[in-house]
Amino acid sequence: MEIGKKMQDAINKQINQELFSGYLYLSMAAYFEAGNLKGFAHWMRKQAEEEKKHAMKFFDFVTERGGIVSLEAIEKPAHSWKGPLGVFEDALGHEKKVTGMIYGLADLAESEKDRASESMLKWFIDEQVEEEKTANEIVQKLKMVGSSGSGLVMLDKELGKRE
Ligand code: MG
Repeated sequence: MEIGKKMQDAINKQINQELFSGYLYLSMAAYFEAGNLKGFAHWMRKQAEEEKKHAMKFFDFVTERGGIVSLEAIEKPAHSWKGPLGVFEDALGHEKKVTGMIYGLADLAESEKDRASESMLKWFIDEQVEEEKTANEIVQKLKMVGSSGSGLVMLDKELGKRE
């Protein structure tokens, strides 16, 4: 069954949000690069790639169901934060916001009786649990590290290993 206009428009908005997420994480990567925290920067680059994949998953879904993808301008992301903890608190807050958007899409799919969208969105609902968990873990680690320079160097090394 072809995708309905309402669902198509809502997913198009989400494509923009996922691309914005990627843009935000890339901005965070730049912030870490400038601070010489290469591992943190690497982690954020990988995260930005993930967001591009999320956008493309929605992009392909709309296309496969006979809809039309329309791209809008991407909002300018923030570019300065209060240290690594500030960055990851922001990232966690952002992911919580995205989770709310995904839930909104799931509600719409349900009210539209769009079963294909409901099924596709299940993947994103699970993905958001992971995204929030990962960001929260790093926030907690940064809180433990506090103002310890060696702790930060160790965490930088760990995050630099992200595949
Ligand atoms: Mg995402």
